[in-house]
Amino acid sequence: SFDAKDMFEDIILALSENSKVKNVRIKNNISDIMLFGEKVLLQRAFLNLVQNAVKYNKLNEEVVVTAAQNDDFVTVNIKDNGIGIPEEELENIFEPFYRIDASRSRELGGSGLGLSIVKTIIEKHKGEILFESEIDVFTKVTVILPKN
Ligand code: ATP
Ligand code: MG
Repeated sequence: SFDAKDMFEDIILALSENSKVKNVRIKNNISDIMLFGEKVLLQRAFLNLVQNAVKYNKLNEEVVVTAAQNDDFVTVNIKDNGIGIPEEELENIFEPFYRIDASRSRELGGSGLGLSIVKTIIEKHKGEILFESEIDVFTKVTVILPKN
């Protein structure tokens, strides 16, 4: 197992260039939570999620990372204050190469592979991933991972 806060500190460092140009602060509000599984894979999954949170955030808005746990599961939340995801798109976003509305995504670049990789990694760990969003207000990603 490995420390969740430390992992997100690495991720925040890796994304510092991206977040600086948008003046997006990434708040790591995790403390004393361990994650179980393959660190390299889970770090890739969470990097992709935080990268999206920065990329689709508005200028000068925060991204906040939190986590909680019980005896069986760890729950990690990543919330941005960005452009949001339309309800009817939530079933599509995990498809490889899928990007919502080329016009809004084109200038931001990307291949549309990020979330398909996330899904594969979370499923490999027998976890779950959920999105909650309001257009033009926020997107909140919840990842639930079993402890073992
Ligand atoms: P890549 O991750 O491969 O660089 P990408 O970010 O476009 O490219 P995904 O990460 O798979 O691809 O995301 C798929 C689509 O879901 C994105 O193009 C974007 O439209 C939407 N999306 C993902 N995360 C968010 C978010 N936090 N807020 C708003 N839209 C999002
Ligand atoms: Mg992405």
